[in-house]
Amino acid sequence: MQTHTTEQFLNTPQGREADAIVRSCVHCGFCNATCPTYQLLGDELDGPRGRIYLMKQLLEGKTVSAKTQMHLDRCLSCRSCETTCPSGVEYGRLVDIGRELVDKQVKRTGFDRIKRFVLRKILSFPSRFSLFLKTAQKFKAFFPASIKQKIPNRQEILEWPDKSRIRKVLVLEGCAQSIITPNTNSATASVLDKIGIELITANGAGCCGAISYHLSANEEALGFMRRNIDAWWPLIEEGAEAIVITASGCGAVVKDYADLLKHDVNYAQKAKIISEKTKDISEILLQESIDLNRIKISTENVVFQSPCSLQHGQKLNGVVESLLKHYGFNLAQVDNAHLCCGSAGTYSILQKELSQQLLEEKLIALQKNAPELIVTANIGCQLHLQTQANIPVKHWIELLDESFVA
Ligand code: SF4
Ligand code: SF4
Repeated sequence: MQTHTTEQFLNTPQGREADAIVRSCVHCGFCNATCPTYQLLGDELDGPRGRIYLMKQLLEGKTVSAKTQMHLDRCLSCRSCETTCPSGVEYGRLVDIGRELVDKQVKRTGFDRIKRFVLRKILSFPSRFSLFLKTAQKFKAFFPASIKQKIPNRQEILEWPDKSRIRKVLVLEGCAQSIITPNTNSATASVLDKIGIELITANGAGCCGAISYHLSANEEALGFMRRNIDAWWPLIEEGAEAIVITASGCGAVVKDYADLLKHDVNYAQKAKIISEKTKDISEILLQESIDLNRIKISTENVVFQSPCSLQHGQKLNGVVESLLKHYGFNLAQVDNAHLCCGSAGTYSILQKELSQQLLEEKLIALQKNAPELIVTANIGCQLHLQTQANIPVKHWIELLDESFVA
């Protein structure tokens, strides 16, 4: 697509990057077929091609309005369009740049700004979020049903194995996951211990930066990224083989550190190495052999919800599914598995109606063949599905850990 991007944008790395992405789009519209918001709303401007057109207008200096902002806000950043696009358009990066540029020109309402500020300042900080969650859990009985269902119960924290191993991998503890579902990483530590790998944590690491990044607070997000690199680097130098991520949403962002910090002379090289060493837990297990006699299946019928950040963001479509089948689980087929469940980071809070519609459709698809359990690979999806599922929802690594006999 031809663009007439203004000098103002062409003089910035962000503007040049956005311009190059817009130019790579041939406007064919194939992506609309797999876009959840286009499917729901039927409006060209609520599909990827229309949004790319809106961002082209922005780069060309045309007036952007609250309507432009609304269409970009409605995008889930699920990147299903990237998977479909035959021209390799990096839509996810474009929409993040576009949102930040639009937010600089279009002032949000006071309430909207407060909501976004509170989300960034609470969710990204485990100590603040823990206090917030504990208070909500304590007064859960007093909330209306619609809010009550969103407050998860406290998990009894399982012990981590205490054996030291020669092979070590680092884990991103994360922010929300470390507070709401700490047993995802306990289960990961336990599974890895069984195959001779020690899972270690780094003091000082924290939020991957995804929440700030997707809420147009890019400098704040880059600060989180640099902090994590500083925390991980000494352990990488000591020989940690990889950085294991058990929340696919965080994994997709950490794998992008190389790109996001490529203009930072102090961090670009380290960020590149960190991104290369970042692996979803499924990628680690794919490389390791597990004696199948050590796995005893007690939950027969399982269905896997593949998070967008795993299948579209990290391009790991089918990896967890093939592992689970290899371990002996009976995995149900899911219709329209490429579509988002509506969680999408803070989307379920900021775009409630669309998020709920997607959730209902996803649960119909997941529960169609009467499974006993839904497993997933991302904390956001897990919590979102849990609010209305008729059956338990957990991370697939917990299921694998529970199935080990020794
Ligand atoms: S499929 Fe790709 S090239 Fe075609 S309109 Fe969508 S983003 Fe552009
Ligand atoms: S990221 Fe998802 S919601 Fe946004 S345009 Fe692409 S397919 Fe549609």
